[in-house]
Amino acid sequence: MTAYPHLFAPLDLGHLTLPNRVLMGSMHTGLEETGDWNRVAEFYAARARGGVGLMVTGGMAPNREGGVFPGAAGLFTPEDVANHRIVTGRVHDAGGRIAMQILHAGRYAYGKDCVAPSALRAPISPFPPTALDEAGIEKQVADIVTAATRAREAGYDGVEVMGSEGYFLNQFLSLRTNRREDRWGGAYENRMRLPVEVVRRVRQAVGRDFILIYRISLIDLVPEGQTFDEVIRLARAVETAGASILNTGIGWHEARVPTIATSVPRAAFAWVTKKLMGHVGLPVITSNRINTPEVAERVLAEGCADMVSMARPFLADADFVAKARAGRAAEIAPCIACNQACLDHTFSGRLTSCLVNPRACHETELRYEPAATPRRIAVVGAGPAGLMAAIVAAERGHAVTLFERDDRIGGQLNLARVIPGKEEFDGLVDWFATMLDKAGVDLRLGSAASVDDLRGFDRVILATGVRPRPAGIPGEDGDTVVSYADLLSGHATAGQRVAVVGAGGIGFDVAEYLVHDGPSPATDPALWRREWGVTDPAEAPGGVTAPAPEPPARQVTLLQRKAERPGKRLGKTTGWIHRAALAAKRVEMIGGVRYDRIDAAGLHVTIGSDAEAIRRLIPADTVVICAGQDSDRALLDDLARAGIAADVIGGADRAAELDAKRAIDRAARLAAAI
Ligand code: NAP
Ligand code: SF4
Repeated sequence: MTAYPHLFAPLDLGHLTLPNRVLMGSMHTGLEETGDWNRVAEFYAARARGGVGLMVTGGMAPNREGGVFPGAAGLFTPEDVANHRIVTGRVHDAGGRIAMQILHAGRYAYGKDCVAPSALRAPISPFPPTALDEAGIEKQVADIVTAATRAREAGYDGVEVMGSEGYFLNQFLSLRTNRREDRWGGAYENRMRLPVEVVRRVRQAVGRDFILIYRISLIDLVPEGQTFDEVIRLARAVETAGASILNTGIGWHEARVPTIATSVPRAAFAWVTKKLMGHVGLPVITSNRINTPEVAERVLAEGCADMVSMARPFLADADFVAKARAGRAAEIAPCIACNQACLDHTFSGRLTSCLVNPRACHETELRYEPAATPRRIAVVGAGPAGLMAAIVAAERGHAVTLFERDDRIGGQLNLARVIPGKEEFDGLVDWFATMLDKAGVDLRLGSAASVDDLRGFDRVILATGVRPRPAGIPGEDGDTVVSYADLLSGHATAGQRVAVVGAGGIGFDVAEYLVHDGPSPATDPALWRREWGVTDPAEAPGGVTAPAPEPPARQVTLLQRKAERPGKRLGKTTGWIHRAALAAKRVEMIGGVRYDRIDAAGLHVTIGSDAEAIRRLIPADTVVICAGQDSDRALLDDLARAGIAADVIGGADRAAELDAKRAIDRAARLAAAI
């Protein structure tokens, strides 16, 4: 008897039955662009072996002008079709099913040849699109249909037509982007003509026994977006035109509302999908911030949808479904929705992977094989690096002892998990605890390993982490000054007016921590919607309204010495969210400062270059120092004197790049090679 009866109910699609209600949503991994089709195939085959009901590939361009970026993958030649056959063959051999997403980016295409309903440049693109004429529209439809027939030829079980996130088809649907006055614009009947025509012609071309998913934008989250009545009309028309499944899209890429970041509540948009239920007869899929089987089951049990789509969770763990089915949900590596190794990579032209699973998209090259010679390994420090090294080494058959000075595991993760909006780190620490236990790691908490403790091991791995770095400001030893580590670990408190020295990732996190009081918006969906101005699309087109954030709990000033805009170096896809969230809490963010001194009145700074420098007092009851870290390598020096060699990983290796993604990746690679 499964704990997730709704999740594991089969779904009859007529010509085939899906074994469960889980769809792996489309993700651009960058694998196709490597040209290594064995690697692409292994990525999907691993997820098929893991038991997911149906997978959707990353978006494939139907033509050059519609590609997300120049050179974006698509099925353009017989060779492309043959390459995709490697993928579909391997997936089918593994017992899986896979649909290919057709993604026409319209004005989001990063290139000067981009096309759109109207010549209106997207706020997130430097390229103004060309407005299509009648022949141009026909060409786009024909190219999408050709892509679908080639997908069938390549052995796919279906296609997903991408009609959401503000891409090409979505651009026709909204007055924001469609200012046409011909039969493709104006009244909604005209604006929806293109997506409906695409679905009709694709169905005609591929036949009945082929899955046709239409990804529908249920809430555009942009001004002049669709009303919900319009969305329902489109859904019904698309069903009549031949779609077999409706998948949910939430928000355009240019929306100023986060939709998948970690600070978005889990299943935050399932209520929008639920509004569509009953209006159509075909299965409806919900998506966004669903990352555990419990949440997926609840969403289905509450009647929000017929299926759930999860994408990033399948980067974090290819065996998500198999583990849930086997009653081993605690062993599922959780996607913490950080975007650090997936979307941030995608948007900077790097191969996708996953912070918690460095094997994602590296399946063929990073392998955890049984160790040829089991060894006795000591790992010192149970932060992310030490935990990952210990688990991978133990899983491979080594006898691992993990020493941790603190009385709990987690290291810096324990500081992250108290930040409002970073609650997902709780699940990550819990997962590490489960896996340590399962792998049989000998965990010694409250044990600061000495040189003597480490004698007799075949190998020593130091993951001793970091110490907060003082900023070196006169007066920093005063009573009002605290380090971020003391503040976040509860060893220090902050007054009403706070100056934060250092505006890196941790400075931003500390500011977020200080301005909140009461429930975290990430765990209170109604509060979160008010903070970001999300409303029912039946009440306001696009589902956007004026944000109404709670007043800040404290008056916070965030400072840095660099003259650039604070937060510029935060994550590519999440930095804007952090900046907007703090701005909504009236945090003053100041760059280009020199710290003069700290006294009882606050922080004295000089702002600007010498010629026009302004002296200013930032009145502060508390000054929090977030000025980076130094590696904690004291033990390494002691070991060296005793002639014991050690590998150093994580922050103890390079404090300047203290980063859980890098720490976990290096740890996994080291442990895989021992
Ligand atoms: P960081 O990003 O290196 O930022 C340190 C800050 O301190 C900078 O603003 C720096 O700016 C300032 N600073 C450095 N030396 C200083 C000095 N002597 N006096 C005064 N200010 C000084 O480090 P972090 O914020 O501690 O974050 C550490 C790591 O954690 C980062 O690598 C980041 O990847 C990771 N992290 C990421 C996130 C995330 O959201 N992705 C969140 C938290 C942490 P100026 O030199 O311009 O003053
Ligand atoms: Fe999830 Fe972060 Fe992994 Fe991306 S990198 S899949 S967001 S845990």
